[in-house]
Amino acid sequence: MTAHPRQPRIVLFGLGGTIAMAPVAGGGVAPALSPSDLVAAVPGLAESGIAVEVVDFRRLPGASLDFADVHALSVAVDGAFAAGADGVVVAQGTDTLEETAYLLDLWHAGPRPVVVTGAMRNPTAAGHDGPANLLAALRVAADPGVAGLGVLVVLADEIHPARRVRKTHSTSVGAFTSPNGGPLGYLVGGRPCVLHRPEGRFVLPRPADPPTARVGLVTVTLGDRGELLHGAEDRLDGLVVAGMGVGHVPERLVGRLHEIGGRIPVVLASRTGAGPVLTDTYAFPGSERDLLARGLVPAGFCDPVRARLLLCAALAAGADRATVAGAFAAAGGYTAPDSWPWA
Ligand code: ASP
Repeated sequence: MTAHPRQPRIVLFGLGGTIAMAPVAGGGVAPALSPSDLVAAVPGLAESGIAVEVVDFRRLPGASLDFADVHALSVAVDGAFAAGADGVVVAQGTDTLEETAYLLDLWHAGPRPVVVTGAMRNPTAAGHDGPANLLAALRVAADPGVAGLGVLVVLADEIHPARRVRKTHSTSVGAFTSPNGGPLGYLVGGRPCVLHRPEGRFVLPRPADPPTARVGLVTVTLGDRGELLHGAEDRLDGLVVAGMGVGHVPERLVGRLHEIGGRIPVVLASRTGAGPVLTDTYAFPGSERDLLARGLVPAGFCDPVRARLLLCAALAAGADRATVAGAFAAAGGYTAPDSWPWA
């Protein structure tokens, strides 16, 4: 932890999600609370010395957030920094938290921290984790020691990089993990401790308008006959294939993927949840070598959901085929971070 020279000013954007839910007539919970309500529920915030300003940005479940919301949020985050904020916290639904965080990260060039958080237990539940997560996120955002790390995700006292974190459990309070590399650090007694820093930053130009590229994601499965791939090149601007293992598909899909890849960029990721797509090991029909020789782009360590966002953002930035390949080479870990196509 690094002390701030003066009282840190953090802007909190509330987007809804479980952290902001309240009971609904007829049963269940739905987004209802404002970010002021969230702040009021945090014990110890006054003593933390952090000045918090709130922006009631959206009150949506994570699943209903869209590219337009994240794009508008990214613009608003830049506005908060331009107005002098030391850091930003985003509180949102956990269902799409890793996607919001990654897209914000791709568009966040500056050194000041953006921290995304949420809750797994709603405010009516015993042991609601919202206040603890929010306080931890505010503390990280107020810590100059995290400058330059890009967008971070803080839940359950763990600090994760937006480029790697994933929701890997549907209900656990420890749902957020970084299967490739682990967390960057922890909150210990409320103090952020960063133990290691990822190399490089992968930032690309944010388009003036929200991305509109139609990028699909298809997971390949046992006995797959490729029904979801029919006409994909006519309906989509790009495709991510979540292949088996290190990037394999059944032989019968190879021709179809080759045809699609002749028209639109097709990125090959792994459906396993951790580890990279290989490039040079297996040599059977449908292997990674076969698919890459047919023009598919290997995603490296980028998981399928993240690969889809990177492809969307790259296309929105005007990337051609070679630039898309260069982006995945750097972000996927095949080449050095400084080979990233954008400055
Ligand atoms: N389970 C979700 C959450 O934690 C619901 C959502 O994403 O809004 O917020």
